Amino acid sequence: MDQITCEYIDRLVNIEMRFGQGLPRGVTHRLYDAARAAQGDVPLTFLAADGLRKALKRGDHVLVVTGAGTPPWLPKGETDGPPGAAAIARALEVGLGAKPVYVAEERNMGPVIASSEGIGLAVMAESDFAKRDGVAAASVFPLGKDAGAKEAARLFDRFAPKAVVFVEKAGPNSAGIFHSILGTGRTDDMMANAQEIAREAKARGVFSVGIGDGGNEIGFGKVAEAVRGIQPAGRVCKCPCGQGVATIVETDVLLSAAVSNWGAYGIAAALAALERRPEVLHSTADEDRMILACAAAGAFDGAYARQVPMVDGTSQAVQTSLITMLHEVVGNSLKSYQRGF
Ligand SMILES: [Zn+2]
Repeated sequence: MDQITCEYIDRLVNIEMRFGQGLPRGVTHRLYDAARAAQGDVPLTFLAADGLRKALKRGDHVLVVTGAGTPPWLPKGETDGPPGAAAIARALEVGLGAKPVYVAEERNMGPVIASSEGIGLAVMAESDFAKRDGVAAASVFPLGKDAGAKEAARLFDRFAPKAVVFVEKAGPNSAGIFHSILGTGRTDDMMANAQEIAREAKARGVFSVGIGDGGNEIGFGKVAEAVRGIQPAGRVCKCPCGQGVATIVETDVLLSAAVSNWGAYGIAAALAALERRPEVLHSTADEDRMILACAAAGAFDGAYARQVPMVDGTSQAVQTSLITMLHEVVGNSLKSYQRGF
């Protein structure tokens, strides 16, 4: 029964609404199909939610890693990423009693904290966070590969996380170069090298989930060859590395979605269904507060490249409509009703 619910959660979060021209179009269902085929043909939100439930006990730390976009184009990052991170952090806290730690570049942390506060999960200093439940902490991740490797090890030593979730977090390709979805290259000194967190998780046997919408985000290493065939810049990028945008960084579970935030909302909905508690998924009022707070804190819509409360070119109304529909899928799945004939 849970897998039926999650089947339609998967479909809801994979409805593509891209511009007719500009960014890659018609790729969402192909990336989803590739990710699904590579993971035993089971609904992907089910795989992620089920894995997180098994990995996390009350009081366990979970790293929630996000932050996309680079200055000067997207100076404080995108509206896709921070709200998804906040939604999954809230769901893991409300649903499982986990203690979320946000991890992002300093430039992106404002919108991450604003999103969390918008959805009703306060972010506290590490010392206070350790003393109580019902809150999150935030840890700035440095730019550059060496600093990233050092910080990844410190995070695992400090928090001993039992799970890691990456939301819209760029990963390098086979040449070690990060790329925008259209193939612009970005060297590792411009980026949080969060692949070091994925590497550390794998080395320490910590469960990991990657959520993305393009194939250049951490998690898509599981289907890198499919990404190379699906994305226009999949095989050949616009930078001297010439090896395309597909990342080679893998996670235990990959969730491909139309918008990364929606993938995170989908996992929150799946957790709500599995826990039989609809409130594990945030409300439409939470969503409205969160997206406004995220944009006000400096995040840009990545498709318009403007500081507006929209996500990948979709309106605020679409975000709340999606939450409405996810709640209906979950709520109805928990009902029993005989119509009498
Ligand atoms: Zn390149």
